[in-house]
Amino acid sequence: MDQANIGEVLISSEDLQRRVGEIGAEISRDYRDRDLVMVGVLRGAVVFIADLLRSLTVPCEIDFMAVSSYGSSRDSSGVVRILKDLDDPIYGRDVLIVEDIVDSGLTLNYLMRNLRARDPKSIEVCSLLTKPERRRVDIPIRYTGFEIPNTFVVGYGLDYAQRYRNLDYVALLPEDAAPTL
Ligand code: 5GP
Repeated sequence: MDQANIGEVLISSEDLQRRVGEIGAEISRDYRDRDLVMVGVLRGAVVFIADLLRSLTVPCEIDFMAVSSYGSSRDSSGVVRILKDLDDPIYGRDVLIVEDIVDSGLTLNYLMRNLRARDPKSIEVCSLLTKPERRRVDIPIRYTGFEIPNTFVVGYGLDYAQRYRNLDYVALLPEDAAPTL
């Protein structure tokens, strides 16, 4: 594992697995007899959606979008470019957006407006992590894994300069390696 520069472990692998199982059970209850399509936001949500998918007991499809935010790498500008769109239409379907982390909320705000315009039957959000202190727009998150403080985290799909996604836990970067918040 790529651990040389890793700081304190914030959420252990065991805690992640337990919480993902709980959320999966909740989604399975809520989406029984519905037409669920989970939309994973590339690339950070890949690990989460893969585990979440396997904890579901209801039929579901998955699709992916890739977006990039203009502005500095750290601060979302709210102007989002779609790098990869969904493969299939979502008209009339029950969409669940699966995110790695909601920070300012600007990316998700854009994404929800964009997907709503396609007339799904319903649209909800499931985010592994959320940083409520950083929020700039109010986003209704239906399923949240963990609330974390205002700090930069990596692991379990989340990267810093494309590294650390492979860690099976969520960790802080050491002070000198972390981007300034
Ligand atoms: P927002 O538009 O909510 O400010 O930005 C959300 C995106 O910023 C996330 O999908 C993620 O890509 C990135 N991001 C925000 N906070 C963190 C963090 O602590 N660590 C990592 N690796 N990415 C983050």
